[in-house]
Amino acid sequence: MANIVIDRIRKSFGTFEALKEVSLTINDGEFVSLLGPSGCGKTTLLRIIAGLETSTSGDVLIGGKSVIGLQPKERGLAMVFQNYAVFPHMTVYENVAFGLRMQKADYARVNAQVEKAAGLLHIEQYLDRYPNKLSGGQRQRVAVARALAVEPKVLLMDEPLSNLDALLRLEMRAELKTVLQAAGTTTIYVTHDQTEAMGLSDRIAVMHDGVVEQVGTPVDVYNYPATRFVGGFIGNPPMNFIKVPVTNGQVAAGSEPLTAPKETGKEVILGLRGEAVQLAPLPLGLEMKVRVAEPMGSHLLLTGSIHDQPVRVILPSSETVRSGDVIGLKLDPNRITWLSPESGKSFP
Ligand code: ATP
Repeated sequence: MANIVIDRIRKSFGTFEALKEVSLTINDGEFVSLLGPSGCGKTTLLRIIAGLETSTSGDVLIGGKSVIGLQPKERGLAMVFQNYAVFPHMTVYENVAFGLRMQKADYARVNAQVEKAAGLLHIEQYLDRYPNKLSGGQRQRVAVARALAVEPKVLLMDEPLSNLDALLRLEMRAELKTVLQAAGTTTIYVTHDQTEAMGLSDRIAVMHDGVVEQVGTPVDVYNYPATRFVGGFIGNPPMNFIKVPVTNGQVAAGSEPLTAPKETGKEVILGLRGEAVQLAPLPLGLEMKVRVAEPMGSHLLLTGSIHDQPVRVILPSSETVRSGDVIGLKLDPNRITWLSPESGKSFP
């Protein structure tokens, strides 16, 4: 079993607290992304798990055993980093075999494992080549194959696709998912790219300013963000946040008022996903002033305002709305997230 328990990890650099008290459990065979903006502490957390950085306090357990104090190579994990270090003076075969050679694996095992990993990553035909004769995407595959060849219990990846162009990223993303699922590897994947995290992960840990704000499946963090930060960081366009008055427990939204959570004060923030609306005639619907209407092909993107607050909504491309129109929107009450204006946290 290779589950990972991160238990109240803190990390300070001088007076700066990079990790404030992070706890997270990753199940055996699970793929979990650490997602967040630059500087939120995701790389620091990964490096602490890897043993490349020491924590100020807290514990990391792999397979039930604390690994604090163990060298990186004693932790039974493999790593793939952004600057995928393939060795330029070694052939692809030797690059993939590297970890096995370090383990002093015998000839038959090296051969079998290199073949298997190369097959998974579709690089069999390049085994005799040197890395300078490969494209960026192929080199990236070599780095991943080298990590997988040792059949690690745990794989740690830090933005491994960030050096690839958009199309290759997409291709590698799909491939990574298949390969890691087949291998049953427990994976922690650092990224600031929310679409990458959504596509790859069993669960996502959304980080912000040294804390994990929410852990959940991609669908959960998208639909039920725990905080304003999560709703704004995940999704494109991000979730809309509209501050609205509460009167007798209700919020006006066209002719059908919405019921606000009991705990709200005089105002509440209505969190609305751009696609959780339907066109409705006025005054039945909630009024939106459309500043720009952009037909995107797959959908119609509207930028404008509700209650003088900026919003973006998505309608089917079959709707005809033009820049400058004033439209009515019916909100799906099941898809509204209510948030406290004071704490930025959502009401349960
Ligand atoms: P990025 O995506 O930009 O790498 P990140 O979320 O991975 O961001 P970290 O690299 O973990 O962020 O850094 C978290 C914070 O800790 C940042 O503010 C960074 O400047 C700081 N930090 C990281 N390493 C050190 C260090 N060795 N000394 C001082 N501060 C550091």
